[in-house]
Amino acid sequence: MTAAETRELAAATQKPAAATRELAGQAALVTGASRGIGRAIALEIAAAGAAVMVAYHRQREKAEAVAAAIRASGGEAAPFQLDVRDPAACEAAVAATVDRFGRIDVLVNNAGTALEKLLVDTTPAEWADLVAVHLTGMYACTRAALPHMVARRYGRIITISSIWGITGAAGEVAYSAVKAGQNGFTRALAQEVGAFGVTVNAVAPGAIDTEMNSFLQGDDLEEWLRRVPAGRLGTPEEVAALVRFLAGPRAGFITGQVISPNGGAVV
Ligand code: NAP
Repeated sequence: MTAAETRELAAATQKPAAATRELAGQAALVTGASRGIGRAIALEIAAAGAAVMVAYHRQREKAEAVAAAIRASGGEAAPFQLDVRDPAACEAAVAATVDRFGRIDVLVNNAGTALEKLLVDTTPAEWADLVAVHLTGMYACTRAALPHMVARRYGRIITISSIWGITGAAGEVAYSAVKAGQNGFTRALAQEVGAFGVTVNAVAPGAIDTEMNSFLQGDDLEEWLRRVPAGRLGTPEEVAALVRFLAGPRAGFITGQVISPNGGAVV
């Protein structure tokens, strides 16, 4: 290849993908979409054309702002209050998505809380809360959405797990356990529903720059970054770009996978 051809190829690969609206006509429910990774996912899949139910727990104004931003760009979106620890509320969120947009094609189980504690200091209530948010919430939202997807022989279920669900982390045993549970759920359910055109995947990010990681400062941050070949935290938008691909029609052969955008921290 000549030098000119090499330059041309490099330039071509650096061009942004042609603007597509691969999710036009579809509808999505994103939990924990008021801020952080969920917010970026809601904006990204709305940019791909999906109508989005922007679920939030406590921060209604932030969810309203996300929905307003989507509508201002010509998309469809509405905020919805949802505590994923309550299975009946998860059913109501899926029903509201179908009522409002006529369908549900994409479910993103993103809502989450972290817990930085040694196992011996983790109380039964804290343990139960993490299980409720990450496992019960995922189970209940997915169980409610699946019949709609199976009936139409198409669906995308994407759960935001964590790198700690793959490797485990000292000081975050309970969090690692529920994230590993999400990965197991993903692998099993993918096998159960694959024949119905529904894909089930987990995205397991490394450290991403959100409020959840605001405790990571100073020496702790530097120590972590020494372990990351990319030398930086990831952005919510980088996670959202992967979710957008998995949510789209071109990802139909990807199912049961746990994909980890982590800057090379685990290879
Ligand atoms: P974040 O900025 O702290 O946002 C958390 C989101 O979850 C908020 O929208 C919050 O809603 C919602 N939420 C919390 N408890 C809820 C509940 N009981 N019911 C429904 N929604 C609830 O967190 P993030 O960093 O974006 O994390 C999003 C997901 O990515 C989580 O599952 C997390 O475990 C995972 N993750 C994060 C990282 C990271 O480095 N940040 C890395 C790996 C995985 P309100 O705003 O309304 O309170």
